Amino acid sequence: MARTALASIGTSIFSEMTALAMAHQAVNLSQGFPDFEGPVEIVDDAVEALRGGHNQYARSQGVLPLVQAVAEHQERFYGQSLDAMTQVVCTTGATEALAATFLGLLDPGDEVLLCEPFYDGYPALIAMAGGVCRVATMHFPDFRLPVADLEALITPRTKMVVLTNPHNPTGRVFDETELDALAALCVRHDLIAVSDDVYEHLTFGVRHCPLANREGMAERTLTISSTGKTFSFTGWKVGWATGPAKLVAAVQRAHQFLTFCAATPLHMAMGKAVGRLDETFSTQLKADYRRRRDLLVEVLREVGFDVAVPEGAYFCLADIRGVTDEDDLPFARRLVQEAGVAAIPPSGFYSVDVDAGRHLLRFAFCKEEATLLEAARRLRTWRAARPR
Ligand code: PMP
Ligand code: GLN
Repeated sequence: MARTALASIGTSIFSEMTALAMAHQAVNLSQGFPDFEGPVEIVDDAVEALRGGHNQYARSQGVLPLVQAVAEHQERFYGQSLDAMTQVVCTTGATEALAATFLGLLDPGDEVLLCEPFYDGYPALIAMAGGVCRVATMHFPDFRLPVADLEALITPRTKMVVLTNPHNPTGRVFDETELDALAALCVRHDLIAVSDDVYEHLTFGVRHCPLANREGMAERTLTISSTGKTFSFTGWKVGWATGPAKLVAAVQRAHQFLTFCAATPLHMAMGKAVGRLDETFSTQLKADYRRRRDLLVEVLREVGFDVAVPEGAYFCLADIRGVTDEDDLPFARRLVQEAGVAAIPPSGFYSVDVDAGRHLLRFAFCKEEATLLEAARRLRTWRAARPR
């Protein structure tokens, strides 16, 4: 029998929609993974690491080239001054960093503030740690950070708040006013903040400001990231958490018994890649993704969806009410079958105002231009044949 806290968790919507897309040969704009390769020199570095004998357990907290590169990255891009040996822990993707964070810091019954729509990993992982989620809603199309609503949810058991920035699935990049309000709340109530910044290099015309840099936050924030998005290698699962030594030690305590260490040769290669990561690479990445975003937004609007234009990450949330009266899940299934385009029904990313998600659909644009053009062609053909 499943553990009670996990019993309501079914198959991930990402697995379900990707399987459905494959069954119907649909263009898969559901699960967020690039359909193109990351930089070839990173693959070469991994081959070199494999051939060069980097094939045994690594230092548990992370191989030196990667922890050093991550600390330098935080300095180069955000002016943070971190000790590579005590303020960085490298993990098997951001997913393990999140799991180790919740397992290392939460006692059963501790409460965690979340904003919905959320990345669905959070409630599942918090439940595994015995934590309890308290959720405030962000509303289409602005999706402003609901700081006052979060504050109203605080009880003596509240220990932590989780932020995703840039945000999956809304595409928001939270501005300094919102971040300062959240920071003030954390300081006022002595909360730990977990900022999931996996899309930190994917912003379009706005600047990513780390929550850890706001006043009073350096000593209470764990920042989580991953190379999956930045370098388009989601399958490598190379991630990390950075923050004050005390919080990182708590994450490390769980990490050493979850996996002990991550895949050594991949972390060695990513040490080099993160070390090389500069403004030129980041600017090019943003420009490439901005083109993909604009292409997708244009076709979604053309076929009748109302779109919240994403400022970051690689997802676009569309209001489907101009096209259908159906809820997101049946409509997403029908769209795969009729149009041959797969998207994610996001109502599962809500737990309080689930209705708010029922008239939305999430489309990913981490795809080749040719893939997006094919999706556009299919959506236009489908729409022309079915005016409503
Ligand atoms: N956080 C967010 C917001 C994500 O979208 C993802 C996507 N996979 C993850 C964490 C997990 O990252 P990883 O693949 O590195 O485990
Ligand atoms: N982060 C990606 C998304 O949001 C993939 C998540 C997953 O497959 N678990 O689509």
